[in-house]
Amino acid sequence: MKVYYPSIKNGSAKELEGSIYVITFFVSETPWAMNEKMDLFKHVREAESWLEGKAKEYGKTLRFVNGVHGLFEPFEIDIVPDYNSGTPQTDIAKKYLKAAGCPSDTAYPEWIKKNSGCDQSLVFIIANKEGRGYANPIYWESDGPEGTILYHSENNKLIASSIIHEFLHLFGAIDLYETDVQTADNSARMEKMYPKEVMHNHYFPLTELVISPLTAWLVGLSDNKESWFETFLPK
Ligand SMILES: [Zn+2]
Repeated sequence: MKVYYPSIKNGSAKELEGSIYVITFFVSETPWAMNEKMDLFKHVREAESWLEGKAKEYGKTLRFVNGVHGLFEPFEIDIVPDYNSGTPQTDIAKKYLKAAGCPSDTAYPEWIKKNSGCDQSLVFIIANKEGRGYANPIYWESDGPEGTILYHSENNKLIASSIIHEFLHLFGAIDLYETDVQTADNSARMEKMYPKEVMHNHYFPLTELVISPLTAWLVGLSDNKESWFETFLPK
């Protein structure tokens, strides 16, 4: 597996520094109460503040600028991406940018700059249904819009730490729990070193969650590459 590592500094979300435009879309196939969307947007702000605070600890200035679609009125789009019914869609960011008024796939950096003044950006879709969230980092090309989707339902409410986890993927972070990226041994290793690391297990209060030196290095918060990182990096 060589897929995750090269996403460092690729795509529209390169590193956790400077000003980053987050374009959030609320999408639903059924009517969705505005109050609930407002509450969810508070989680987006919470996640962003947490990341801004962590960046500050590393001496970086980070600021998120927000654009929101579908909050006051339903956002008209013909697809609400679904993970459970098949493979994850890889071009969600492009589709949603276009629906938000971006003239073409290649015009997005200028369009982002004009709308927000930011050089970096990410698309964030909050879907009002059951599903398993995922991120679409850009692996190989140097540029292109990056996006992530998370689901919210009565049984599986969206929480701020899930937003943090997926956003970090777009900046180059890798999963540190047992997946096709990490072995069970590696997951156990991380559990000993940083049990509350956000890419390992994010189900902790925000005040307890941490970013390990490995994740900090992957997302550009630190230049300090420690020798133990190698064990966790996709070969
Ligand atoms: Zn993950």
